[in-house]
Amino acid sequence: MNLGSNEDTICAISTAPGVGGIAVVRVSGKMAFEYVEKVFSKPLAQSLSHTAHFGKMLKDGVVVDEVLATVFQGQKSFTGENTVEISCHGGLYIQQQILRLLLDNGCRMAEPGEFSMRAFLNGKMDLSQAEAVADLIASQNEASHAQAMHQMRGGFSKEISSLRERLIHFASLIELELDFSEEDVEFADRTDLKELVDEILALVNKLVHSFSLGNVIKNGVPVAIMGAPNMGKSTLLNALLKDDRAIVSDIAGTTRDTIEDSVVINGVQFRFIDTAGIRKTENEIETIGIGRAIEKANQASVVLYLVDASSITREELVTATSEFQEQISDPNKSFIVVGNKVDRHTGDIGELYSKFEFLDEVVFISALTGKNIDGLTDLLIQKLNLGEIGNHDTIVTNERHHKELLEVQKSLTEVRQGLDMDITGDFLAIDIRKSLHHLGAITGEISTDDLLSNIFSKFCIGK
Ligand code: GDP
Repeated sequence: MNLGSNEDTICAISTAPGVGGIAVVRVSGKMAFEYVEKVFSKPLAQSLSHTAHFGKMLKDGVVVDEVLATVFQGQKSFTGENTVEISCHGGLYIQQQILRLLLDNGCRMAEPGEFSMRAFLNGKMDLSQAEAVADLIASQNEASHAQAMHQMRGGFSKEISSLRERLIHFASLIELELDFSEEDVEFADRTDLKELVDEILALVNKLVHSFSLGNVIKNGVPVAIMGAPNMGKSTLLNALLKDDRAIVSDIAGTTRDTIEDSVVINGVQFRFIDTAGIRKTENEIETIGIGRAIEKANQASVVLYLVDASSITREELVTATSEFQEQISDPNKSFIVVGNKVDRHTGDIGELYSKFEFLDEVVFISALTGKNIDGLTDLLIQKLNLGEIGNHDTIVTNERHHKELLEVQKSLTEVRQGLDMDITGDFLAIDIRKSLHHLGAITGEISTDDLLSNIFSKFCIGK
């Protein structure tokens, strides 16, 4: 992206590509009003901000379309520059003609994310907020939408900025001490500095911790469906997805690779992964499938282990579950045993329950008839503890922020240890500077052209 061209007035179609009832062409920059006036039937420059003007788009005196031009004056716009949003009829030809007219009369085509980048450069939002705009548009479920919204309104960046300001204050006092190094003075009160570092570390630790949850909210909760062949894994996936995506068959070992699909339950996106059946096999392809299945289970947030509740004996269950759990590397992984095929069970229900008694977490279902699938999904929601997240809690969902926060955590921990060991100011100053750098990188107070173009080029044109 050419970052040196902020003097240009840019334009782009800001609505989704394709035909619609209406489309919006956005124009932003110093000359926005003047350029639009060249092809619009009414003057705009003197209009009040946030007013809409009905008029005609004209090419050599011929009407291209009747449109509504909305005027945003300078700082009051999204970008912080003079902006006109032209709402035209949504035909492709009309959209292209209007864009052509604007390009022929002084505007330049906007680069991907350039409107948002200008908003950042003009101080309308900080970097983490700009990134939230992208997340907001990309969000596919209620929870990730709420997070992006919260972040866009300021999220944790205000808190980070103010803590950073206080740290800058200390940094400058310590740098001052270095100037007077001969005289052994201490301008920066070490106890106060320790307190501040602890305060920042507490926030940073909380934010770093929230990332695993944030990731889940943004990308969906991975749930692996595991178990021996023919236990009903594919049938369960279909019941969860409510369609016939996975192949169901009576021949053992049909699901050789993993199948994955998403479904939104109570506002949370789940990614269900149907895996190859786990059994001892000579078949090479099946062995690879099983290896992948175990890998998926290790990556998943929750593992569902399916057994045939109607036929399994207590001894078989004990062996199967313990053998399976041995292959899962994280002993704290959420692990739910699912007793499937309860529709086949005849006889005493108490007898069925007693076989499973020794397990911590078990749920009985029939994937075939749909019995208690809701019970299973309720349990999944409960497992995630999502109820604890309100709209006001700060959750880090952005990979870049997470990386910067880890760096802050590292350097601040070093500052803290340095303070405990009474190390000299010059060493403290190095680690404090590092922390300041990474804190500033989150909100964009410290940024490079490369970083900016990397972030904004991921946006689409018109954003
Ligand atoms: P997978 O190998 O674990 O994926 O098992 P499938 O989903 O392919 O199911 C194997 C067989 O068990 C199929 O014939 C299914 O119709 C049957 N099946 C799956 N779930 C149930 C259930 O809840 N009740 C009954 N009676 N049969 C089931």
